[in-house]
Amino acid sequence: MIDSVNIINDLQYLFFPDCCLGCEKIITKKAYPLCVHCRHELPLTSYNRLTENHTDRILYGRVRLRHAYSLLWYHRNSLVQRIIHQIKYRHQEAAGAFFGRWIGHQLLEYPELTSVDMVIPVPLHPEKKRKRGYNQTEKMAWAMAEVLQAEFRKDILKRTAGKRTQTKVNRINRNFNEDNPFMAEPRVDLRGKHILLTDDVITTGATLEFCAHALASHPEVTLSIATLAITA
Ligand SMILES: [Zn+2]
Repeated sequence: MIDSVNIINDLQYLFFPDCCLGCEKIITKKAYPLCVHCRHELPLTSYNRLTENHTDRILYGRVRLRHAYSLLWYHRNSLVQRIIHQIKYRHQEAAGAFFGRWIGHQLLEYPELTSVDMVIPVPLHPEKKRKRGYNQTEKMAWAMAEVLQAEFRKDILKRTAGKRTQTKVNRINRNFNEDNPFMAEPRVDLRGKHILLTDDVITTGATLEFCAHALASHPEVTLSIATLAITA
């Protein structure tokens, strides 16, 4: 019997082939989102559970975390920057899910993360979301939640329209209640929950710090953080 679904898929591939997110060469559907060469070139952080890592170090003393994790090193004009650009601006949501599943499986190696109840993506500024049409971190968070058998929740953490993250405000002078452009939905009961907060890149950690403080306004919340990449 002729499989009409496969024929449609093949025709679609003929006109809209999948391209490697790193080098834009045409690749098979199975290889998506990266060709073998780009896959081997990925600068993995290779964090392991026995040693302190750089993501931990960025947030040390600023946010109380159960665990912090990043999959890749981020450099300017690099393969990782190209991949993130494609996910962000070219709606490569399937690639977001690919990396989300990858991170999820890495996190399963950490016994302290098997208790994650929900995965929450950092929300985009509403203006940015309107322009871009979607939040690139959501699909990644959704896939992570699936692997960790946790809930994916994008209704809890909110970004207020008026404020932008003030990364330049002196950390000591920052008032997390007044300056925080994020808020956690007060009507949801988060008591006793272990929340995994996720974003694409961590650089200074300011955005994640604000988000963590917003979520910690709920009592007895445990927080962990996972990002696709960390600025080297
Ligand atoms: Zn490639």
